Amino acid sequence: MSNAIKDFIGSLMLTELFKGLRLTGKYVFARKVTQYYPVEKTPASPRFRGLHALRRYPNGEERCIACKLCEAVCPALAISIESEVREDGTRRTTRYDIDLTKCIFCGFCEESCPVDSIVETHIHEYHGEKRGDLYFTKEMLLAVGDRYENEIAENRAQDARYR
Ligand code: SF4
Ligand code: SF4
Repeated sequence: MSNAIKDFIGSLMLTELFKGLRLTGKYVFARKVTQYYPVEKTPASPRFRGLHALRRYPNGEERCIACKLCEAVCPALAISIESEVREDGTRRTTRYDIDLTKCIFCGFCEESCPVDSIVETHIHEYHGEKRGDLYFTKEMLLAVGDRYENEIAENRAQDARYR
């Protein structure tokens, strides 16, 4: 029987329609996997590399010691740091900027930091409407760290045994 005749008989018997209904019926009772984002959040790994943050110690002191390792290791040249020595002899940044339009979220800055200061958080729901909105200054990065310190510390504790 030629293919044309087979197709003709198939169209008379509505076989394609019944095939489709069989597939639909199969999934009517199957476990649903659709996630109603953003109302329902999907689970994220503690290693997720999202928005950057600068952290402080519990006494409020900035962790960053301006060693500039993160700036040196950044393959996208996204980090700009300037520093000074304070009266008490400690060295701290006077400028710490990250241009997120350059950043490729490789995580090298986080890995290189000896004091767990610069980190990439679980936050991915942020946006900029113009280029300048994604230029994060030290104050902005510290503010992210202050706001999400509990989650950052929890994620790092979960990942600590693999580091
Ligand atoms: S995640 Fe990578 S590209 Fe982005 S600032 Fe850190 S080192 Fe640079
Ligand atoms: S964030 Fe960490 S690696 Fe970067 S300058 Fe500060 S202490 Fe050094």
